[in-house]
Amino acid sequence: MARYTGPSCRQCRREGQKLFLKGERCYSAKCAVDRRAYAPGQHGQNRRAKVTEYGLQLREKQKAKRFYGVLEAQFRNYFDKAAKKKGLTGENLLIMLETRLDNVVFRMGFASSRKEARQLVTHNHFLVNGKKVNIPSLEVSAGDVIKVKEKSASSPKFKEIRDMSISTPSWISVDTDKLEGRVLAMPLREEIDTPVAEHLIVELYSK
Ligand code: SF4
Repeated sequence: MARYTGPSCRQCRREGQKLFLKGERCYSAKCAVDRRAYAPGQHGQNRRAKVTEYGLQLREKQKAKRFYGVLEAQFRNYFDKAAKKKGLTGENLLIMLETRLDNVVFRMGFASSRKEARQLVTHNHFLVNGKKVNIPSLEVSAGDVIKVKEKSASSPKFKEIRDMSISTPSWISVDTDKLEGRVLAMPLREEIDTPVAEHLIVELYSK
């Protein structure tokens, strides 16, 4: 399973905003976007460069990929599937990315970042509707129940979640005592706070 293995903070600096890829560090004074608010690399501080329409569209696509930890080929697949569905392609795309199992585990508060959620899923810590699942890209549906496996529930990582109060999006509910979450409904665009202008991605791929 291919994944990006370079420095996460560099990705945020390239997009010029926090993508919250590193859990607690993102909320601390150590955040690289706060400390060095310019793009990485030799020309990162060159603010004179004019951004073209294509450049804007490209950045938006890169941002969405990085936010959800998806590589180019997989992202393109999501786009093609989104375009075939009824409704607005951009919204369909975001909803598909938002309902990936790793993202849902993160939104439920069982992981401090999408990266950690992905690792926890691949390491078999969750059941979906009572069945073992270790595929981070699995698309969840309304009514699905995601639960920490009994064997994993006694680990310090999950023990501390029981004492936490977790705020979740309205389309998800979580019972921290049971270490279990439920997808109440498929998310609507307005319930997804991802800082992406999806229409620019649609424009980019429609060229
Ligand atoms: Fe991005 Fe988090 Fe690194 Fe800040 S600390 S640059 S938000 S990954």
